[in-house]
Amino acid sequence: MVKKEMNYSEFVEVYEGLYATTKRLEKETILAGFLNKLAKEGEPEWIYLLRGKVTPDYDDRLLGISDKLTIKAIAFAFGIRDTEIMKSYRKVGDLGELAEEFAGKKKQTNLFAKRLTVSKVFNNFRKIMGIEGKGAVSGKTALIAELFGNATGKEAKYIARTLVGQLRVGVADATVRDAIAEALFPDEKKEMSVKIEVAYDMANDLAVVFEAASKGKKALEKIDIVLGRPMNVMLPVKVTEIKEAFRICGKPAAIEHKYDGFRVVINKVGNDVSLFTRRLENVTKQFPDVVRTVKKYVKAREVILDSEVVGYDPKTKTMRPFEAISQRIRRKYDIEKLERDLPVEVNVFDVIYYNGKSLMQEALTKRRKVLEKIIPHEKWKIRPSMQIVTDSEEKALEFYKEALKLGEEGIMVKNLNANYQQGRRVGYWVKMKPAANDLDLVITGAEYGSGKRGGWLTSYIVACQSNGDYLDVGKVSSGLKELEQEEGTTYAEMTKLLKPLIESEKGKVVRVKPKIVVSLTYQNIQGSPTYNSGFAMRFPRITHYRPDYHLKDIATLDDIKIEVKRAQKGMSHLG
Ligand code: AMP
Repeated sequence: MVKKEMNYSEFVEVYEGLYATTKRLEKETILAGFLNKLAKEGEPEWIYLLRGKVTPDYDDRLLGISDKLTIKAIAFAFGIRDTEIMKSYRKVGDLGELAEEFAGKKKQTNLFAKRLTVSKVFNNFRKIMGIEGKGAVSGKTALIAELFGNATGKEAKYIARTLVGQLRVGVADATVRDAIAEALFPDEKKEMSVKIEVAYDMANDLAVVFEAASKGKKALEKIDIVLGRPMNVMLPVKVTEIKEAFRICGKPAAIEHKYDGFRVVINKVGNDVSLFTRRLENVTKQFPDVVRTVKKYVKAREVILDSEVVGYDPKTKTMRPFEAISQRIRRKYDIEKLERDLPVEVNVFDVIYYNGKSLMQEALTKRRKVLEKIIPHEKWKIRPSMQIVTDSEEKALEFYKEALKLGEEGIMVKNLNANYQQGRRVGYWVKMKPAANDLDLVITGAEYGSGKRGGWLTSYIVACQSNGDYLDVGKVSSGLKELEQEEGTTYAEMTKLLKPLIESEKGKVVRVKPKIVVSLTYQNIQGSPTYNSGFAMRFPRITHYRPDYHLKDIATLDDIKIEVKRAQKGMSHLG
């Protein structure tokens, strides 16, 4: 195969273009122009670089180079003392700009630097990711320094930003998808954009989708689910009235309990079981009990199941809320004790793959039939989700009230004829729960407490998403626990989670990389100039930390606008 050559400067030009505009359409045009070229002249995998990565999304390894190591590599590459760099760093506060400054200075003297190719940058990044154990630091430093040594100022800036995981060019997944459609199928852009999204949800790999799309429509349509790999799940839209649920899903519809646990996609290949959260994280090690249950009870050689794993109290034999068992996802030690103290039941509500065949394109009724055949009713171990099929609003409401009485969150209403569609799409699944004024948001900033809370970050700025950006909607300081003995996340734990994500610090206030998702309740939400979303919550309170939620699961600005309207109208879910 001919080795593809492209200069890294071409990527840098795209990054700069994307950085310079906040308009989605302009970003899309820049990307489309470049993707056209990349499809012809580059390797499909290089597309990861546009999102600051060198691996597909299902691979949860990150480059994750620390600021300290990057500074060390800058020092090494340019023969400058760490202390001098630290001084500049404190002034500039951004590693990208720092690298740019030093690489820019060097350029005048080092006339023999080679042009940096994309393959050099990509391959060094990959190698950096692979180095582990003794000598890892010096090995990584050398690989980074080699790149800096041959980089122009601007190239160094984006190399540094990619290394520390802060590319900051503001590109949402949907923009890349639309840009691929625009670049490769300009005449059928709309239709192909949907096909690209469907293919992407299955493969979880931008390079695979891009390569197939470059070959044409047929290749794209051939992309299918892969057994044993994490996958994007199907998600509901929200309704407030049962009438609306039926209007969206049709009559009759399947109605199920909405369990208050967490989503686990179960993969079984022979005797090999793996478990993934909806943010594609592998949690197999944390749940040996679920693995045993699946091996023992699931009657299938090869299967992908979609389920909600719910905690229960082993003494009272009652369901427990998500918060009580959330530590089972996070904790990687004392697993046996956790397994005993916080047992779980697996409620299976879908089957996506069965003995050599993908069921994604089959109707829910057919998938449910398979499910009932292979999942036994083993109380407190594993069972099919509680389901009724009805066209009666009365019966549905009765079922809803029963679910709430049992401590469930509400109900899910599902279109019986719909296939399994990944992502949140209108028309197939809806959720209905009491109007509780709750939102899932991401933490973008925090503030240190005072007095006995001095060392902890105790109040948090939270944001929603809007086209790849995060917009603040409030500050929250209640809901977490002071003491470890209490059930739930403590301020100390939250501080530990947030500290490595700090991007800047000013007095007691820090800004953090958006990563930690929390569920909140609030009394009211209204227009306000205080935050850059234009909205603010009154009396917010954190109900739980959601280690299993992805950034794309948080509320969008549009969701917030709907909530504001709902609050103004005083709509009721029973209506
Ligand atoms: P939400 O996260 O509020 O949009 O609600 C969707 C989540 O509800 C899913 O990701 C599941 O974790 C959970 N869930 C609970 N019970 C069910 C069910 N019977 N069917 C589908 N999802 C369910």
